[in-house]
Order: sequence, then C-alpha cells, then structure tokens
Amino acid sequence: MEQNVFYIKTFGCQMNERDSEIMAQTLSSHGYHESMNYQEADLVILNTCSIRAKAEQKVLSLLGYLRKAKENKPSMKICVAGCVAQQEGARLIERMPHVDLVIGTQQIYHLENHLQRVDLEGSLVITGLLDNYEIPQFLPEISQLGRVSETLSSSPAPRPCSRFVTIMQGCNNYCTYCVVPYTRGREISRKVNEIIEEVKALAEEGVKEITLLGQNVNSYGKTNTVKETGTKYTFTDLLKEVSQVEGVVRLRFTTSNPKDLTDDLMRSFRDVENLCPQFHLPVQAGSDRILKKMNRKYTVSEYLEKVDKLHEYCPEIALTTDVIVGFPGEEDEDFEATMTLLEKVRFHGSFSFKYSDRSGTRASAFVDKVDEGVKAARLYRFQNRQDEISLERNREYLGKIKEVMIEEWGRDGLRGRTDTNHIVHLNNCTADYFPGDIVAVKILHAGQHSLQGEIEKID
Ligand code: SF4
Repeated sequence: MEQNVFYIKTFGCQMNERDSEIMAQTLSSHGYHESMNYQEADLVILNTCSIRAKAEQKVLSLLGYLRKAKENKPSMKICVAGCVAQQEGARLIERMPHVDLVIGTQQIYHLENHLQRVDLEGSLVITGLLDNYEIPQFLPEISQLGRVSETLSSSPAPRPCSRFVTIMQGCNNYCTYCVVPYTRGREISRKVNEIIEEVKALAEEGVKEITLLGQNVNSYGKTNTVKETGTKYTFTDLLKEVSQVEGVVRLRFTTSNPKDLTDDLMRSFRDVENLCPQFHLPVQAGSDRILKKMNRKYTVSEYLEKVDKLHEYCPEIALTTDVIVGFPGEEDEDFEATMTLLEKVRFHGSFSFKYSDRSGTRASAFVDKVDEGVKAARLYRFQNRQDEISLERNREYLGKIKEVMIEEWGRDGLRGRTDTNHIVHLNNCTADYFPGDIVAVKILHAGQHSLQGEIEKID
C-alpha cells in the first residue's frame, strides 16, 4: 500500500473524539502510521461537527486550505467524516472537488474498505443511515489516547488515566434547534455485555476513570436492551454494573436531557460510591415559552425540582449546564428568566452560545429571529455573570482538602482533577506522581476556571 501516513483533525464532542480513535485504530491495523503534521500525511481526515455554525465554518475554511496542500502533493487523499459529512454528503464534493471521500457517522468502522474503493473508483460519498444499525464492538487501544482535537463540548479531552466509552448513538428527541437526530440517526443503545467488556479491558490497562457517553444517556436501553437481557434494563442499571468493574475508581456520564432524568438515576449520586459528584445537565433556556419552542419537554420548575433533588441526594454535587441565547422569538423577559435561573442554580460552570440556524432543523424555519447584536449582548451578560459565579463557587473550596487524580504534566507543572471535575494545578509537585495517582490536595487558590493547591505531605 502506497499511502501509509495519516493525520486526523477532530472537531466537536466526545463522540467524535471516540470515533477518531476508532478510525486511527482501524488505519493502524492496516499498516498506516499516524502523524501530528498534516503536511507529511498521505491521508488527511477531518472528523467534523455541525452542532454550531462556527464549527462548520472552521471545517470549510480548513478544507479550502487543504486544497493548496493537495496541489503541492497531488497524491494526498482528503476524507471528511462526522456530522458535516453526514449532512452535506455529495454537496461537499461539489463545492470542494479536491475531497476524495465523504463518510457518514455510521461508516467509520469500514473506513479502510472505503479508501480502497476510492483507489479503484475515484471520489466517493457514503452517508446512508441504517434503520437497523448496530454499533460494532471495537475494543480500544491505549496507544490511541490523547488525540488532536478542538473540543466545543462540556467535558475534557481524553486523558491517559481516563477514557470515554460510547454506550449509545443518535437521538429521538428532535429538539427544534439540533442536527443530531439527522446526523447521528435514530437512538440506538449498545449491548450491555459489549460495554462491560470494553470497560473491563480499559480497567485492565490501568484506566481509572470511565465516562459513559451518549447524546442522551438517560434513555439508554429504551431501544434494544430489553431484547438483549429479556427484561427492562435502564441507564441506572448500566451505571451500577459499570461501577462494579474492578479498577474503575471514578465514573462519570454525559449527556442528559432533563426530561429523562429519573429519580432512580439521581439517587445513584448518593448510592453508587465511585460515581463522581459532578453532573452536566443542559437546561438551554430559563423561559418555559422558549423551552416549548425548543421542544425540550420540561418546564423550568421541573428542572429546578430535579436540581433540588440532586442536592438532596448529593449535597456536594457540582452542576454545569448548556445555554443557548437568542433562540428565535426570545424576548427580553425570556432572557431575564434565563438570568434568574442562573442565579437560582448558581452553576459551577456553563457552555453558552448564540443561537445559529442549522440546516434541516425546525428552528431554522422559524421567522422570528433575534438580531445578532442583541444575541451578542445577551451572551456577554450571561457569560460575565457565569464567570463571577464560577469564581465564587471555586472559592468555596479554599482551604479544603480534595482528592485529586493526577492527569498530566502541563506547561506550569503537574495537573489533576477533583471528583467534582475541577482542574487543579499542583504547586509542590515532584516527578514521583503519575497519571491516575490520587493525592490529597489542600486548595490554596481559586480562579474562574481552575484551582491551585499543594499536595499534602503524608507522614
Ligand atoms: S436531546 Fe440533545 S442530542 Fe437529542 S435532539 Fe435534543 S439537543 Fe439534540
């Protein structure tokens, strides 16, 4: 095989991170080698995200840039995978004829076959979504950790002691602003035994922290696990089973639609010992009128009731959220309701964005769009207040001793993470610590986005 060096650039969420690992692993098993420099690559893959207009624009401008790289090296193959590929399909090659392969979100497992077809037939587009799709079992390799990424989402990129495990794909919820049901297809849950097998394999390799991944993990099992297990099997059941795998020290999950958050699952924060006291619960808006237009299927008071229960079951839980400002029809009073919600919950952090039209979604056809300047002003106000609250929240840890899992050496020394998912920079670090070690740390300084502390001396 002539072409044997590949480069992957990942945009978007943790699902894409994991998909890039799978593609890298597939290519490596067929004799390819990975490079971190696209200029020396024979195959460049952009694993794309279309959740926001900005992410999609970045992909298109990078593709424009790659046109020049391909002019200098005509043998270079360019592949677009992920959500932009799924949505744009053949249109992408019409606009960007230097692209060789466009593969949809369910096609990554067959990447090598598709590349062979490109060699024989020329440029190719494969983006069909299957009705009876089953997620293939694909055990990860530790060597595929820490990929190049541009994460827009709520959790950190994979760390050597910490791994994401996909438990489901797709979504049936059809929130009016969201492309996921169109780009990832209908919701499908992976088989329980395959998930457990993957977690065990990771734990045996020394991975200590597992994050279960899906677009809406709370509805895990609704699609196919009854068939598999012969009984109703919920996400809470899965969480408990994974928590018992030997070697799993910390367990997290993301993402959750509040409408599917059951009391059972909330109780897990009290009952499952290694489930971290940290929860990302996207609210999106603080106005019932806007939530209805978004098709979120919960009200603000229902959301707040769940927040209260979470605090009751786990008083130290750190909550984060997603917010969209300037959704079509959002009036000043709707936005003020979002600010009121922020004051009530006092999230530890949030990911907030200006609404942008996504092609094919219902909201893109709504006529009552909000002026760009108004959206920008609202976003600025929301983010400023969130930053203040995050700082106040982080100051609550000052002087406390927290258990920190060491992750890596950064530019400023050793870095770790609390069970509440706060990054901690360690002052008095030595070379004796390794990723995955858990140390007791006294928190001495709190910033908006991280904490700083000293490892407690153990006599
Ligand atoms: S629940 Fe999440 S993934 Fe599903 S449609 Fe709504 S925003 Fe998109």
